[in-house]
Amino acid sequence: MAEVTAEQVLEALKVVDDPFKKENIVDLGMIDGLQIKDGHVAFTIEIDPAQGAEMEPIRKIAEDSVHALPGVLTVTAVLTAERAPSAPPPQEGPQLMPGQGQMPAKMDLPGIESIVAVASGKGGVGKSTTSVNLALALAADGKKVGLLDADIYGPSIPRMLGITEDPQQSESGKIAPLDGHGIKCMSMGFLVEEETPVIWRGPMATGALEQLLSDVEWGELDILVVDLPPGTGDIHLSMAQRVPLDGAVIVSTPQDIALADARKGLNMFLKVDVPVFGLIENMSYFNCPRCGERSDIFSHGGAREEAEKLNVDFLGEIPLDIVIRETSDGGNPIVASDPGSPHSGAYMKIAEKVWHSLQG
Ligand code: ADP
Repeated sequence: MAEVTAEQVLEALKVVDDPFKKENIVDLGMIDGLQIKDGHVAFTIEIDPAQGAEMEPIRKIAEDSVHALPGVLTVTAVLTAERAPSAPPPQEGPQLMPGQGQMPAKMDLPGIESIVAVASGKGGVGKSTTSVNLALALAADGKKVGLLDADIYGPSIPRMLGITEDPQQSESGKIAPLDGHGIKCMSMGFLVEEETPVIWRGPMATGALEQLLSDVEWGELDILVVDLPPGTGDIHLSMAQRVPLDGAVIVSTPQDIALADARKGLNMFLKVDVPVFGLIENMSYFNCPRCGERSDIFSHGGAREEAEKLNVDFLGEIPLDIVIRETSDGGNPIVASDPGSPHSGAYMKIAEKVWHSLQG
């Protein structure tokens, strides 16, 4: 089916009027940042922050109106107050979504038994590698597993699962998740162009995450693992508020500086009443493949100590090993390619603890 055009989207939006100004939201210049990618449409509606709550139904009508166009799979409309004269300076997160209220209601997701977030205070600590191997370890244990890549800043999960195709519409009209090594996968990367400026991706993230949860045909899942973007800002907070998370795990490398960020992550989840199941120390130590000697490159054991101090579980440690990098970056993560290896065993143990925490 031919890609829907920007003109078609704007035409569909012209039927939606601003209830205060009694004119359509397109002619009023309220639509911005329109993006169309493979049937996924996203845009912002700029509003006066004082009218946030009243404009929420308009946002929904705008989404529905565009959704009715042929060839449209998902629509993400986000209310922003970025350009309003009385608005505060642009920031990510809930401030830009006044329509969402103080504490947005959690989504209702029948069919998905439990949702666990994998978070990290900062990027590059191996959060996505951990998410993928944790999800595969849960699947190896017989669970029905989904993996949702919500990392707007660097969606890498499809590549790590060796997925090369784009998602398609299923018979029910929803998006069919993709299969990677037996787990169902969906990624923000399918909705957001890589070149999209981060400033736009931020405010869009919560809406896009909701789309990925509600418009994807996840079917029956025992557990959905959500790979969150790194960091602990407003955007993460609003994601954690809206998604019915049963718990979170935090990935950190052992150095103090990374652990300080991990602490921020823990506090963030506490703020929104999401239990933190524990810390995982990634790149915990290095086993030299040539001489066999072990070295603690980033020091070692910091996450275990930190977990004790913070009174959360220490879920396990994963060494820095080229095999882990090569297998996950190559689309065949270690738990899938070498399930009997000690590293896979470490991921399995972490998965067991996470599952146990969920039951408890
Ligand atoms: P994040 O999601 O935190 O940004 P990634 O999971 O994308 O981090 O990992 C960053 C890089 O580090 C990737 O190339 C990945 O393969 C590599 N990596 C992650 N964990 C390990 C590990 N335990 N050993 C070796 N390489 C790793």
